[in-house]
Amino acid sequence: MRRTQLNWLRILLIWLVSLAAVFIVSFFVPSLSNASINMLFRLRGELPAPDDIVIVAIDDQSLQKIGKYPWARSVIANGLDKITEAKPKAVGIDVIYAEESDAEDDEKLAQSIRKNGRVVLPTQLFETTSEIEPERTETIWLLPLPEIDAALAGKGHAHAAPDVDGTLRSIQLSKSDDKGNRFWAFGLEILRVAETIAPNDFEEKSAVLRVGSYSIRLLPEETGDSKIEGVSIARSDEMLINYIGATKSFRYYSFTDVVGGDVSPENFKGKIVLVGATSPTLGDAQVTPFMHYAGSGEREGGQAMPGVEVHANVINTIKSNLSLRFLPEFWSYAIALLIILATTFSVKWLEGWRQVAVLTLILLAIVGGGLLAFSRYFLILPLPELLTAYLASVPLLLLDRSLSASRDLDLKLNALSKAQKGFLLDENKQTKEKNRIAPRNLEWKLRAVDDITARLLSRMSFINRVLTGMTEGVLVADTTNRIVFVNQRLPQLFEIEAENLLNEILKGFLSNAKFFRQASWKTHSKKFWRATFVQKEFTENAAQTRHFLLQLSPVTASDDAALGESDGTKNSPVIGVLILFFDVTKQRELDRLKAETLQLVSHELRSPLTSIQGLSDVLRKFPISKDESSEMLETIHSEAVRLNEIINRFLDVKQLESGTRDLQISTVNVEKLIADCVSAAAPLATEKKIKIQNDTNGSLPSLLADAPLLTQAVGNLLSNAVKYSPPETVISIEAIKGESEIQIIVRDNGFGIPKENLERIFEKFYRLERDATSQTIGTGLGLSFVKEVTEKHGGRISVESVESAGSTFILHLPI
Ligand code: ADP
Repeated sequence: MRRTQLNWLRILLIWLVSLAAVFIVSFFVPSLSNASINMLFRLRGELPAPDDIVIVAIDDQSLQKIGKYPWARSVIANGLDKITEAKPKAVGIDVIYAEESDAEDDEKLAQSIRKNGRVVLPTQLFETTSEIEPERTETIWLLPLPEIDAALAGKGHAHAAPDVDGTLRSIQLSKSDDKGNRFWAFGLEILRVAETIAPNDFEEKSAVLRVGSYSIRLLPEETGDSKIEGVSIARSDEMLINYIGATKSFRYYSFTDVVGGDVSPENFKGKIVLVGATSPTLGDAQVTPFMHYAGSGEREGGQAMPGVEVHANVINTIKSNLSLRFLPEFWSYAIALLIILATTFSVKWLEGWRQVAVLTLILLAIVGGGLLAFSRYFLILPLPELLTAYLASVPLLLLDRSLSASRDLDLKLNALSKAQKGFLLDENKQTKEKNRIAPRNLEWKLRAVDDITARLLSRMSFINRVLTGMTEGVLVADTTNRIVFVNQRLPQLFEIEAENLLNEILKGFLSNAKFFRQASWKTHSKKFWRATFVQKEFTENAAQTRHFLLQLSPVTASDDAALGESDGTKNSPVIGVLILFFDVTKQRELDRLKAETLQLVSHELRSPLTSIQGLSDVLRKFPISKDESSEMLETIHSEAVRLNEIINRFLDVKQLESGTRDLQISTVNVEKLIADCVSAAAPLATEKKIKIQNDTNGSLPSLLADAPLLTQAVGNLLSNAVKYSPPETVISIEAIKGESEIQIIVRDNGFGIPKENLERIFEKFYRLERDATSQTIGTGLGLSFVKEVTEKHGGRISVESVESAGSTFILHLPI
């Protein structure tokens, strides 16, 4: 909050400084404004010369032919007569005939002027000593000779006041002498005569002078009303001249050609004709904004403009309604402010090429707009001020931006270096220095970046080492479900190539490895993308059962908080998922051992012990007959035997399962092994009058196996067959050679096993209901022992059974 306020304060300051620069330029460097007007004229170029204003030039050629100037007035009279023949609209002769010359010549000129009837002559102010107070000078009008004056259609002042740079840009349309005698400008008077406007058809409105049907835009008047009562100051009615081009833009005829009749009078018909000196030797030339403009053809931009052409330009400006005006000051500042705002917008909120493009556009708009306003709407925009607004604000804004970016970088670097603090071996030196936040130079920043990069790299390699050293598999996937990181352990755990894992889709990997079924993945993934921790256990049923615990934790973007970017972990978006794979096989095995031991003690050992305890108690306390007591002792004995058997069997199985009993592999003769088992089971079988038939025939390959264990296993199958068969039945045992295995098949014609129980008979302590409640001694551990032994040998056990018909157990042992 405070930072944005500070930002705005700085921008406000830049605005103020830029506006101040605009004020300074407009008040203290007016020459820039003059230069910009010149530039506008030159950029606009020349306008077409009007057809109805022509100049009869007293040029070098005329001087050569007629002789040195001033000429006899009859010469001018001759020229005028030629022009008069064509009936021009008006004729302006830019020569003052104030002093008397040859009387005849004067009369001739007066006659010619009278004959024409539409001639206008200039007058000029000059300083003379006052007639009333000889010590004072006064300005009075220098007028033509009275007889010439009487013949004139009008008189106009030919006064020109160039600007400080010597360029004539404006003309005062009215001028008065000290007595208040007022004359309109020579050009304006010629136009009035040409258009036959009544001498009093003038109206001076604010900023506009109306002459007949013409409205002339005027410059703002600097002097207001007079403070002296009864005295009114005549307005100067200053008008900017809209030059059509450099010198000789108008139609020129040489005076000598006119007198000599080389110019057809048609050229003057219905036109305004201006007669005046154009030869540079005659002086009277003005500097115009087009000066030095290299015009094409015969016109020379390097030449000053003869006074007569200036008058032609004045007439044309009024006649074609071309008078120029300045943009009012208020609007100038408003536009300057607008430019400053526009540059602020583009520097502050735009980046890269967009910023450059918009800044260039603003610059083009200033220059182009200025040119358009000038040439289309005759409006002079204050280009120096507008360009100052641009040129002051842009560098300041850019500087501000780069300074605040640099400061931001300092802050970030500080935050980064702070975030490194306290990480393992990080030395705490230089803490004071780093906590100081001040603008730094570039070298410091580069050093800091180097330092932080080195720290980050060492941190990364440390994290890498930690991850590599972990016994758990680690996997990270991004929001698109792509696997982006696995540690070394993970591919080892699942025996896959790390390269194959990277960039694989997480869902594919997890379902291939059967960690999740499609549906359960959906619900789980939804959970952790909502930033919830998920845990799942998974059992892999391969050759060796393995148990895994999967922990899926969302990875959130909240770490940025360390850099002062985020305001906490709340609602921070999930950017990935971290999965830890724990191999919990050992723990689960231990859990199972515990549970089974508990089952053994609480169920299997308890009932024989209870019966031993009960019977021995009766024997101890009561006098019992010998027969009865020997029967009880018999039961106690058999229960004790059973207890012993259970414990031994249990230990056998456990030893095998836990791997504490390693296989003692030797070459085993299968026929001998079967024969041994048959003879071991014979006593029990004989007791039940059961016949054990050995169908094994010779030529079996010998087996690499643990002989005692395998003998015990086959013996178990045989004793089960005897136990679970009715008396006087037949049991067969046989070993056959398969493709890559030896099968030992034990077949009985006993009680059989119901189909639904077939799956469970290999579980520890499982006995069929039928047998558990009968007198048959059993532990429920025999078959799980057989299964364990067979699997330890890399084989398997299968069973087929039909209830009340018999069962067939087959041991498949690989050769
Ligand atoms: P037990 O010590 O009870 O024989 P086993 O693990 O050897 O334990 O057998 C588990 C159960 O499987 C037996 O209790 C019995 O119900 C059934 N069973 C095993 N072998 C046979 C067989 N050959 N015929 C019928 N039932 C059998």
